[in-house]
Amino acid sequence: MTSSIYIAGKWRPALDGAVREIRSPADGTLVATVSDGKIEDALAAIGAARSAFDSRVFSSWSWNDRSSLLAKIADLLERDAEIIAHLESGDTGKRIIESTYDVADVAATFRHFAKLASAHHDRSVDSGLPHVTSKMTYEPIGVCSLIGPWNYPLLQISWKVAPALASGCSFVLKPSELTPSTAIHLIKLIEEAGAPEGVANLVTGSGAAFGDTLTSDPRVDLVSFTGGLPTGKRIMIKAADTVKRVALELGGKNPNIIFADAPLDEAIDFAVTAAFLHSGQVCSAGTRLIVERPIHDQIVNEIVRRAKQIRLGGPNDLTAETGPLISEGHLKKVEEYLAKGLEEGAKLLVGGSRCTSEELSQGWFFPPTVLDDCNTNMYCVQEESFGPILTVEVFDTIEEAIKIGNDTIYGLSGAVWSTNPITCERVSSELRHGTIWVNDYGPYKPQAEWGGFKASGNGRELGEHGLQEYLEIKHIWVNNSPTRSGWFADRN
Ligand code: NAD
Repeated sequence: MTSSIYIAGKWRPALDGAVREIRSPADGTLVATVSDGKIEDALAAIGAARSAFDSRVFSSWSWNDRSSLLAKIADLLERDAEIIAHLESGDTGKRIIESTYDVADVAATFRHFAKLASAHHDRSVDSGLPHVTSKMTYEPIGVCSLIGPWNYPLLQISWKVAPALASGCSFVLKPSELTPSTAIHLIKLIEEAGAPEGVANLVTGSGAAFGDTLTSDPRVDLVSFTGGLPTGKRIMIKAADTVKRVALELGGKNPNIIFADAPLDEAIDFAVTAAFLHSGQVCSAGTRLIVERPIHDQIVNEIVRRAKQIRLGGPNDLTAETGPLISEGHLKKVEEYLAKGLEEGAKLLVGGSRCTSEELSQGWFFPPTVLDDCNTNMYCVQEESFGPILTVEVFDTIEEAIKIGNDTIYGLSGAVWSTNPITCERVSSELRHGTIWVNDYGPYKPQAEWGGFKASGNGRELGEHGLQEYLEIKHIWVNNSPTRSGWFADRN
């Protein structure tokens, strides 16, 4: 779609006419051609969002009406689920079944925020004075720049678009330049559901070209970003000049801690999934396996055996269990990361070099890889590879397990496996990460807040807080019987 920029209710090409080809990471085939927006396009989109917001065309809708809009979008997502899943798999190379699960989660996200919006109300505050009423009102924050990543393209932007609409904001959406197709489709559904012109705007193209415009323009009130740490830091700096609200969902280096008394069969199975699902391109991937010394060999041997069996392939290969990395550039980064780990003394147990078999050589496939003999001083333990690389560390005491699990600049998620409830309770309370799974790995619910401690980000998405992020809170004090204050003497 070469007219994939949507501003003030109209689809159009980039002002300079540039287009960008989107190619499948699984086999290099052309899956879409989209407009390649630039600064001028972003400025026009921000202008449209600002005008729509200032006109109150949408913020004046009742909470119930906005709730109905979200419910309608959820219905349309479910109607188009198959189309959307194919678009998502085309851009990302992930299996159709995974994209299908993602679309269901996106619809559930819209339904969650629809429900929150329908229940939303102002709050009265006890003024302590009979002639005064005092209340807190919740108003949309204004114009939002919503910037998404490529790993779960539609899901991650839905966590921003749904609360922005629920609260009555206007926005400019910028999906990753690698995976824009489902964002384009979502905007079509928002249009079909009846959002007023100028409320939802979309600019496709690269962050390097116009990201700074979206994050520094004075007409923008909030930036919500999901992506890498370096981009997140840059956004905070760009947004500082106009003191914008900034919500960041950044990376993770997530500990998966297994004690010797854990249900081992299940722990091993989930450790494999946590590390290699979507070829490790998951912010909450369990890429740091931390095992109690006596069970190290048993756990690692079994994980290696399982890793060797994982079948790689593109969306059209129905026997595939996981897909490719997103791009050649990302594959090279994963290779460099692995090379550093080996230089540092990590021991390669399985995987380790890109897939060159005939059926995979046209795509960016990297096999499940396990590095043993790791410790917290290593680059490969501290830095996110965002690929299918699992590092293994050992511990001897619960204190050591917690220390290792917290020895990271990140704090997104982690897991603890043990049959001892006291162990689980202590580890889950002392790990400094935004989500902790006990004898499980990976589930999340739209009703529960998601986000990171430390360098994993600022703020929370989903849950109730995910809506608060898009609201300004105002205190309205009404004196129904004003009298003089008498503070200063009136000398006349
Ligand atoms: P990225 O930071 O390279 O890009 C993310 C988005 O930012 C893209 O849309 C990109 O175009 C845009 N961008 C680039 N430069 C920009 C700039 N100067 N200003 C504004 N926007 C700019 O990240 P990525 O490679 O797309 O995603 C991978 C990263 O995302 C990983 O680190 C991963 O952990 C993280 N992630 C985190 C979560 C979470 O919930 N915490 C979820 C998914 C991904």
